[in-house]
Amino acid sequence: MASEIVYLNGDYMPLEEARIPVLDRGFIFGDGVYEVVPAYSRHLFRLPQHLKRLQHSLDGIRLPNPHSDDEWTKLTQELVARNAGDDQSIYYQVTRGVAKRAHEFPLNVKPTVFMMSNPLVTPPRAQIDQGVACITATDFRWLKCDLKSVSLLGNCLLKQMAVDAGAAEVVMFRDGYLTEASASNVFIVRNGVLLAPPKNHLVLPGITYDVIIEIANANKIPLELREISEHEVRTAEEIWVTSSTKEVLGVTKLDDEPVGEGKPGPLFRRMHAHYQEFKQAVMRRAA
Ligand code: PMP
Repeated sequence: MASEIVYLNGDYMPLEEARIPVLDRGFIFGDGVYEVVPAYSRHLFRLPQHLKRLQHSLDGIRLPNPHSDDEWTKLTQELVARNAGDDQSIYYQVTRGVAKRAHEFPLNVKPTVFMMSNPLVTPPRAQIDQGVACITATDFRWLKCDLKSVSLLGNCLLKQMAVDAGAAEVVMFRDGYLTEASASNVFIVRNGVLLAPPKNHLVLPGITYDVIIEIANANKIPLELREISEHEVRTAEEIWVTSSTKEVLGVTKLDDEPVGEGKPGPLFRRMHAHYQEFKQAVMRRAA
């Protein structure tokens, strides 16, 4: 297979040839933001929503957007076309650029723009059918979790705790309330009602989170967005994690305790089927 093609500051090139200077503020400070957009059958899923969130992240770190939405769309389509595989996961990163190391923002520096494509690997059937195990942890990240910042050290430390415990994700609590997982949003079901924490500075506004809410509303699934206590999570009938690559997965074990009956619940199975239909419908419209 031809080598993976990436985009860096105006040019497409093989991954092996892409280089950035060591003084890039993304490397020195983690001073940048990113996005991940899934492409199914080479169609970009919810691109306008991802570009809107990218703008929100850039605004949050006071970095002017180097491209219009039209430009981003063309660059992304070109990257998808140049890479093998129909299902791709497109990663964007924008950093504040290269400058002498000093904390304050440099003047007149061009941002670094990097994009790459990875194969989009959605969960295997066994995971969908059997669910995944999660652990819990205190959310010790910063207070701007709504920004998709490349400063992901907190998320990496937390995810590694899950991996060390043989779990798929870490469900986090801050001051006794559910926030999210290290790379996913979290939904729970109690008394047949779907619950999720509201969007605020403590969670990433997931694109999949919005899809789940749209599907719930369209199918009259009772839904409440509100603060959820740790106790409510630990005694939930169902727990789900959602993200662009995981889509929606049932959590069947939390800290070694079974969730509900210990298998993906009825509302999960309904939502998973709706999600697949939703995706197919979007792709049919795009084709
Ligand atoms: N929260 C965090 C911390 C994440 O990293 C992700 C994945 N990007 C999500 C939630 C889910 O977001 P999305 O549905 O847009 O993939």
